[in-house]
Amino acid sequence: MNNLNRRDFLKLTASVSAIPLTGCLPGQAYSTPPAKRPNIVFIMTDDHASHAMSCYGSKINKTPNLDRLANEGMLFENCFCTNSICAPSRAVILTGKYSHINGKIDNSGTPFDGSQQTFPKLLQAAGYQTAMIGKWHLRSAPTGFDYWSVLPGQGRYFNPDMIEMGEKKKFPGYVTDIITDKAINFVKNRDPEKPFCMLYQHKAPHRNWQPDDKHKGTHKNIPEPATFNDDYATRSDAARQQEMTIETHLRVPSDTKVKPPEGLSGQALKKWKYQRYMEDYLDCVASVDDNVGRFLDFLDETGLAQNTIVVYTSDQGFYLGDHGWFDKRFMYEHSLRMPLLVRYPGFVKPGTVSEDIVVNIDFAPTFLEMAGLTVPGDIQGESIRPLLKGKSPRSWREAMYYHYYEYPAVHQVKRHYGIRTERYKLIHFYYDIDAWELYDLRADPDELNNLIDNPSYAKIKKQLEIDLEKLRAKYGDSDELTKSFLPKKKK
Ligand code: CA
Repeated sequence: MNNLNRRDFLKLTASVSAIPLTGCLPGQAYSTPPAKRPNIVFIMTDDHASHAMSCYGSKINKTPNLDRLANEGMLFENCFCTNSICAPSRAVILTGKYSHINGKIDNSGTPFDGSQQTFPKLLQAAGYQTAMIGKWHLRSAPTGFDYWSVLPGQGRYFNPDMIEMGEKKKFPGYVTDIITDKAINFVKNRDPEKPFCMLYQHKAPHRNWQPDDKHKGTHKNIPEPATFNDDYATRSDAARQQEMTIETHLRVPSDTKVKPPEGLSGQALKKWKYQRYMEDYLDCVASVDDNVGRFLDFLDETGLAQNTIVVYTSDQGFYLGDHGWFDKRFMYEHSLRMPLLVRYPGFVKPGTVSEDIVVNIDFAPTFLEMAGLTVPGDIQGESIRPLLKGKSPRSWREAMYYHYYEYPAVHQVKRHYGIRTERYKLIHFYYDIDAWELYDLRADPDELNNLIDNPSYAKIKKQLEIDLEKLRAKYGDSDELTKSFLPKKKK
């Protein structure tokens, strides 16, 4: 910063942001959106669980810059994904439609059909400049963007190739820094006469968690989660037959980078692997946090912060040793939940928290509505604009629907669908299994006691079954459609 020191600058921006935007009287400042169309910066990381963010109460790390977004905006306690895996979540976010509608049901199958309607395309048609920078992972070229520069596939942490408007180029350095530099450059070089919508999407902290030298070694002696030694006693075979345990499936040395000390086995080896995994994961998150801070400083310095909606999320949650696992996919809480922070000065009251159930189908209609567009009727999500204003409509959803498809495949998490309400969760695992699980999240937030055969919960189970079928009908899912996505069985 040239003439102002940082403290003076913050004072100045604080006093500026106290001025109502639309001529409202003090106290009404949060009731009316600014007349000028807002810019939208959608920051998404890959596999960053909310329980590795201090604003969500992390016991294992600090994320001061993400906390800053939470302090200056709204934190969503109950944001969930419809299908907890990378590419499907991205397709759901772009379209505002479930996987069985947008067609991208898993990572490995058919590429995303980029000819379909997406929110960036609609914003672009309405006069927004649109950009997609970083992790894309949809196996088809980005569409609906004036500028795009994306990692091929999963991309590399160091000296990554990026495909820029169709042309492959190599960039020296660390991927999280490079993606941030590119995001800043896009904003600097945009047409200032138009609003912009930028998807600024990090690769980190995706497997195999390679931190840069600046952050490497900053996390040590990480506490183990309460469910580290879950024995899956009450669950169906789906939990026992997955292949994502730290003990057995975290690879040496590709995941751990180094070999364990001689003679380690059993619980001692599991504990050692957990430390290696989490040290690297959290060091990668620290770089994301620094870079988001650098981007937020840039918005402040250029005066753009005031009229820019900044969103932070991740494509799904992740197991950080919870239930003895890494990875995601299951409908259990740690991978179902997505972090979601939204800052929009003058519209979203700083330091607020929403407990309403929000789903990643809601992102597209929210951005469209905030930009003043009519939300097309085929979008399945609901705009969270009223929630951002601090009002929960009485008609807001009381349950969300989930459906995961990628099986048989890496990590061997069986196909399942289910319903989650504010208090309960009902899951049906199918294909080569037919098993149901029921959890009371209020009595059992760690989901250790499957209550499916508990007679005290028979009525609740019945109601959840009815509500689940209603949700399936509402979103156009069915047994017939589910069957159409099954792999052809080998004879
Ligand atoms: Ca992911």
